[in-house]
Amino acid sequence: MNLTQRLADVHARIDASSKKANLPQPTLVVVTKNHPVELVENLYELGERDFGENKDQEASAKSQALNTPEDDYRWHFVGQLQSNKVRSVMQYASVLHSLDRQSLLKELAKREAELDVFIQMNLTDDENRGGVNPGDLLSFAEQVLQIPSLNLIGVMAVGGLDVEPEKEFERVALASQKLLTVAPEANKISAGMSADFEKAIAYGATHLRIGSLITGNSH
Ligand SMILES: *Cc1c(COP(=O)(O)O)cnc(C)c1O
Repeated sequence: MNLTQRLADVHARIDASSKKANLPQPTLVVVTKNHPVELVENLYELGERDFGENKDQEASAKSQALNTPEDDYRWHFVGQLQSNKVRSVMQYASVLHSLDRQSLLKELAKREAELDVFIQMNLTDDENRGGVNPGDLLSFAEQVLQIPSLNLIGVMAVGGLDVEPEKEFERVALASQKLLTVAPEANKISAGMSADFEKAIAYGATHLRIGSLITGNSH
């Protein structure tokens, strides 16, 4: 299959899963990491407008090189973000999926970064893993809500190797319900990747982050 076919195939599967779950179509964020800007341009021509990257250096260069007829697309930063990269990322990104800790929040506040943000959850049983623990979600969310430049839109999860996708999606859906008690507008859920996006849709994911299934393997 070529890019056009792989993309059409993923869209058809998203469509079928959303219908089956009786839910609106989620936003597809095509994760273009490890692929050249030409691939992003091809995806743009095929109608995609949301692109995900996980490393600032690569994303920053790609965002500068991207050449499209209009500025009607968005970059989503989905990887772990070092505080010293905030200044760079806020130049091109519209959405940050990985707000995972206090020190990053501080830096975003200091820089007055204008971003839509997801709080990245730690949904493993290991409290020391990256991400916000469910027990700390509400107090962390209250702090995010106090930063005027940030727009809190929901919660995000990255599959852990030791957690079944169903468990993870169930937990992120619960975290989302909890978040709504303090931030009723923040009703988005970023979950689901190439291997498990159909399950994520069934659990209410509103933003899918899909890479390799669409882009093919990188070299
Ligand atoms: C790479 C990446 C994805 C996409 O993963 P695929 O398995 O290639 O679909 C999603 N989310 C994050 C945070 C990633 O780094």
